[in-house]
Amino acid sequence: MKISKILKQDKITLSLEVFPPKTSEKYEVTAAAAKKIAALSPDFMSVTYGAGGGTGAYTAGIASEIQKEYGVPVLAHLTCVSSDRPFVHDMVKRYKDLGIENILALRGDIPADGRVSKDFRHADELVRELKELGDFCIGGACYPEGHIECAHKADDIGYLKGKVDAGLDFLTTQLFFDNNIYYNFLYRIRERGIMVPVIAGIMPITNARQLSRSVAMSGTDVPQRFRNIVDFFGEDPAAMKQAGIVYATEQIVDLIANGIRHIHVYTMNKPDVSEAIMNNLSVVLGR
Ligand code: FAD
Repeated sequence: MKISKILKQDKITLSLEVFPPKTSEKYEVTAAAAKKIAALSPDFMSVTYGAGGGTGAYTAGIASEIQKEYGVPVLAHLTCVSSDRPFVHDMVKRYKDLGIENILALRGDIPADGRVSKDFRHADELVRELKELGDFCIGGACYPEGHIECAHKADDIGYLKGKVDAGLDFLTTQLFFDNNIYYNFLYRIRERGIMVPVIAGIMPITNARQLSRSVAMSGTDVPQRFRNIVDFFGEDPAAMKQAGIVYATEQIVDLIANGIRHIHVYTMNKPDVSEAIMNNLSVVLGR
């Protein structure tokens, strides 16, 4: 089913994310985790894509298994910054042949050696390409705190408008730990005429190292309230995991209480964390 259709239903949606392995030896372990997460019946699942494109077959494989075996609609990610046009066409054909209808169109991070595609410089170009290649529901990424490469938030939102106008059906945000940042962002993009659904991306932080990695990758601000939690519980793995799940749950409850209807959880391939969040929200989500 197309995600655009799911987002139009009269309900709060919760989607979950998995990332594919980097090597074939880890494929079965990852696929098993993905299936446990799928068994929780999220509204859809997203499967990420290695920036260089080399692990695209794993993304396709896991996405297809989730959809076929569990009937959970999937959103397969696709990056373009390191791929030429024929490679992207092959990948899209593979998705299409597997019955994948939803693609998250991404540029991907610029590789360390600086070598980028001659065919794609930004995600908007991939969106236009996908529109030519089939009848896909296409999503894109957005950054409530601004993308780290873009010095001015207003410019970032301007480029985002161009990307949406190229043919996006919805956006998913980068993770954030302070909901006010999301509310302000929503206000600013609506003012600029970006009217597609904006799925709020929440990452449950279950250990202190994960927090440092996530912040380094995204540049996301960590509010003092959450810093205190990590400082206090960080040395106790079980307590930190529980506290991280509670913090993410509270963020989601606050979003829903403020009228936000679509939530995406970056599950980091952890079925137990996904299950705890789903259980915490079972009545709130009406399940
Ligand atoms: P773009 O939209 O192209 O933006 C990149 C930068 O270029 C921004 O600074 C923007 O302001 C600027 N820009 C955009 N368009 C133009 C233009 N026309 N002219 C000039 N400047 C422009 N990475 C992965 O490798 N695999 C994944 O599966 C993955 N999934 C993600 C899912 C989500 C929800 C998010 C938020 C991110 C994900 N990423 C993933 C990370 C993403 O690839 C990086 O953040 C990347 O640096 C930017 O990708 P983008 O699609 O947002 O790029």
